[in-house]
Amino acid sequence: MTRIRKKRFFSIGKEGPLPPFFLPIVAFVVWFLAILPYVTILRFDFYLSDQLIAAYYFISYLVLLFAWVLSGPTVAAVLSFLFSAVSLYIFLVTKEPAFLLELFFYAVFYLSAVSFLSSVQKKNNNRQIVKEKLTEDIHWTQAEASRKDVLKTALNKKIDRLMNLREFSEELKVVKDVQTASQRIVKEAYEILGKADACILYLVNESQQQLSLVAGQSSNDAIVKETNGTVFDQWVMKKAKGLLIADTANDFRFSAEPLTTASRPRSVCANPMMTGNKVLGVVSASAMKPGIFNTEDLRLLDIFSDLGSVTLKNLLLHARMEEMATHDGLTGLYLNRYFKERFSEEWRSADDRRGSFALIMMDVDFFKKCNDTYGHSAGDIVLKNIASIIRSCLDFKDCAARYGGEEFIVLLPDKNKKEAMAVAEQIRSKIEAHPFVFRRIKARTTVSLGVVAYPEKTGTDEALLRMADEALYRAKSLGRNRVCGDL
Ligand code: GH3
Ligand code: MG
Ligand code: MG
Repeated sequence: MTRIRKKRFFSIGKEGPLPPFFLPIVAFVVWFLAILPYVTILRFDFYLSDQLIAAYYFISYLVLLFAWVLSGPTVAAVLSFLFSAVSLYIFLVTKEPAFLLELFFYAVFYLSAVSFLSSVQKKNNNRQIVKEKLTEDIHWTQAEASRKDVLKTALNKKIDRLMNLREFSEELKVVKDVQTASQRIVKEAYEILGKADACILYLVNESQQQLSLVAGQSSNDAIVKETNGTVFDQWVMKKAKGLLIADTANDFRFSAEPLTTASRPRSVCANPMMTGNKVLGVVSASAMKPGIFNTEDLRLLDIFSDLGSVTLKNLLLHARMEEMATHDGLTGLYLNRYFKERFSEEWRSADDRRGSFALIMMDVDFFKKCNDTYGHSAGDIVLKNIASIIRSCLDFKDCAARYGGEEFIVLLPDKNKKEAMAVAEQIRSKIEAHPFVFRRIKARTTVSLGVVAYPEKTGTDEALLRMADEALYRAKSLGRNRVCGDL
């Protein structure tokens, strides 16, 4: 960029020191010019006796010389112009050719001063142009350097993110359960985004097409953690696509209604976790201030969702298979095979620590009749309900299993016979009191239960099971709907 500069006059002082031979040359020229009119060889008809005019010439050249040296070529040029004018005037008055010669010399002096000036000025202009070009180059280089700095920082950030993602995917490979994997996903998303107030992961409940919160990470406890997801998360689940909202208060897709609570987020960035074209879950980041997230954040969340969904899909599948391998499909209780493993473990453990445990074996009374009267599917409902009543009477460490068709068995670690009898009685009375409604007909059913406890009865685990069965048989033979202990 070249700017048009104002013309400047230069003084000799500003142009640096004079060359060493400058003053002797000028002194010689002055001397020569002063002496010139007196040189007879030129045959001027001159008043040689007129010493005043000679002095005038001499002094005028000296003045011009000092003017140049002390005040610069501009002043010297002006003065030489004035002297030329005076010489012209004197020539016109006296008609003396020597004055015309002087006029010529002044004019030469004037012209050389002006040409010197213009050459200096040109030189300076060139320098200025070079200086400006250099400044421009420096600015461009600085701008380029800072642009490269910005790019470098962005690149470093990207490399960091990629490294984190790689580490994260490696970590996910060794996670064994859905809960840990979900927590790991939200923690990583929260840290990598670095600006969310909360990150939450919801999984889709397929049968109800609803979201349920599985893991969350937040900076502020007041942040909304809707167990079924906010309207924004539900939108992501239904549309199966990412959502980026700069300000939820101004987004035309959502009414202002969900924003009535002060703790509702203003910025939202949420993405679905897909397996094929099915939505497995939603990862949602939110912040209380508006304008927090950008498309880069949504892209990052998308990568997280992809990585996380592969892991979660496998873990969910694994959990489901494990559930199917250990649980009965109808009642949700453990299968007999799994129960037997637990029973053997408990036997060993009680043996080692000299502890106790108890078993309750139960059988539904006249269940065949129930099936025959209300149908097989009604019988299934009865079994399901009985299972949930059994569960409601147990501690988390107790283990209830479906022993056979309509037979159940419960393992009660750390309980003695008396405590187990109380649990059995609670189960019996609850089932007796429970109304089963089939086709608007209220029906009741009962169970018979046999209880046995270790170490009151020892022997083998098979023998203990047999004793429980015998106690149950006694309950049946004594009229059913009762609890019997072993003899
Ligand atoms: P009791 O009081 O002597 O135990 O009489 P009960 O009728 O319960 O005894 P029984 O062993 O004769 O009948 C058991 C019935 O349970 C027979 C079978 O059809 C039924 N049953 C077994 N498994 C299931 C099941 O999964 N669903 C349904 N609905 N019925 C089942
Ligand atoms: Mg039976
Ligand atoms: Mg029965």
